[in-house]
Amino acid sequence: HYRARSAYKLLEIDNQCKILKPGQVVVECGAAPGAWTQVAVSRVNSLPNDKDKPQGIVIGVDLTSIHPLPGATFLGGKDFTCPKTQQQILDFLQGRKVNVVLSDMAPNASGTKALDHENIINLSYSALRFAVQHSAIGGSYLCKIWEGFMSQKISEDMRKFYKNVKTIKPPSSRSDSAEKFLLCRNFLGIK
Ligand code: SAM
Repeated sequence: HYRARSAYKLLEIDNQCKILKPGQVVVECGAAPGAWTQVAVSRVNSLPNDKDKPQGIVIGVDLTSIHPLPGATFLGGKDFTCPKTQQQILDFLQGRKVNVVLSDMAPNASGTKALDHENIINLSYSALRFAVQHSAIGGSYLCKIWEGFMSQKISEDMRKFYKNVKTIKPPSSRSDSAEKFLLCRNFLGIK
């Protein structure tokens, strides 16, 4: 019943690390076709499925359009890296801080490893900047990267803002792919 098999990666990561909780505000970058969103909607109770638990909020952005999903708000046809798109997210949130930023954003692969790596890291930095500016203290940021020469550097930059940063390779991510996930936890705030 998931829109894509990618749902299992987030399910595995969340089962292991317990990032998503009822009542949280989630911003999802690169959300189409919406499989991660399905997982997020259920785990933060944004529908709400359980009326006895706090109701969360899920907003997803993608370059392509996304079929509507109850419990989520989608900004389709939008580039997350554009300031205008980020302003639209903020307008929607009406001053509420973000608890979890998720990024499964990936550029179109050119086939040139170093270039693809650099492009996905740039997307990760864009979502990191947003997370640092708009997260609640204690917040989390999870992003997909393709391993390469800038992986170390982005992890170091993440450690300036988050108490815990770790690399995760979920079982459903093909072992022969460079795909990894960086999970940042316990946002420290900006000093
Ligand atoms: N997590 C999604 C799911 O489970 O359904 C799958 C996401 S897919 C692997 C990567 C997505 O990132 C693509 O849909 C692509 O359009 C999107 N993307 C890439 N660059 C983007 C950008 N600058 N802004 C918004 N979305 C972007």
